[in-house]
Amino acid sequence: MAERRREDMEAGGSGSDGVRLDGAGAVGFGVDTKSMKCENCGATVSYSAREKSLACPYCDSNYVIEASVEDIVRPEGVIPFMVPRDRAAQRFREWLGNGFFRPGDLVERARPERMRGVYLPYWAFSCSTESSWSASAGYTYKETETRRVTDADGTEREERVEVTKVRWEPVTGTHRETYENVLVPGSKGLDAKLLKSIEPFQMKDLQPYTPDVLAGWEAESYAVDKDGAWPEGKRIVERRIELAVADMVPGDKHKDISVSTTFSDVSAKLLLLPLWISAYNYEGKVYRFIVNGQTGEVQGEAPTSKAKLMILIAVVVAVLVTLGLLVLR
Ligand SMILES: [Zn+2]
Repeated sequence: MAERRREDMEAGGSGSDGVRLDGAGAVGFGVDTKSMKCENCGATVSYSAREKSLACPYCDSNYVIEASVEDIVRPEGVIPFMVPRDRAAQRFREWLGNGFFRPGDLVERARPERMRGVYLPYWAFSCSTESSWSASAGYTYKETETRRVTDADGTEREERVEVTKVRWEPVTGTHRETYENVLVPGSKGLDAKLLKSIEPFQMKDLQPYTPDVLAGWEAESYAVDKDGAWPEGKRIVERRIELAVADMVPGDKHKDISVSTTFSDVSAKLLLLPLWISAYNYEGKVYRFIVNGQTGEVQGEAPTSKAKLMILIAVVVAVLVTLGLLVLR
């Protein structure tokens, strides 16, 4: 595998702006697909050629036009669907029933739409980093201070109290690490925050892409290319470095962490990751939800029960009033 990678690099898989593509430059999905672009949300989705339905899986819009996906980078890896449709539906019902603030009849009265299994495009970045950092390390110590206090009868006296203080010292250091499979969605149809909420995906199930995995599923073409996705990938890595550096600072506390990082060997792979997408109707309103097709993690929008919210507010007020009365006594 490592051998093949090296060949790919030399075969000119170099990206336009520093991010190298791991793949050897194949394009398209490698299978006969029908593709359409949604004029409402902008997502381009491909189906196996025999699929009849032509509505956008993300926004349900019928305003779709035929699109070509012949020139897109071919995915390199795929995590197949491991949660079948009925299991995903069951996970969704469990999720609906959770959460104190949801209406009590939500599970019975929610009308879910058909779930659509969609492979979402993700860029998986790998890179090496070398960082130099500086910070202030805080060491706590106890000191005894003398204070002037006035007693209830008006006499003044001195009292010795022990106080905790922090001594700050500047520290510097270096941090080196290699990061792999830092995931950034290339999707346009789904909200980035919602997508983040059903992570993580487990890379242990990652397989090389073969066109037959698409049979029976829909697949979105990336709307954000690797160079467009890299700034977010870089931010994710920088946050991880900062956390690692915070752990490296000696002492009891830290502040003023400043990190300067050089990135090298940045490469990107296009992956397809499995997602169930659907929505449900409750009292005339539509709520979207998604299920991680590998782990079964569910996230989405849900109504809030006004009655339960009122009860909570009443309880909080009652507690505050009781506390107030206790203090006043
Ligand atoms: Zn759409």
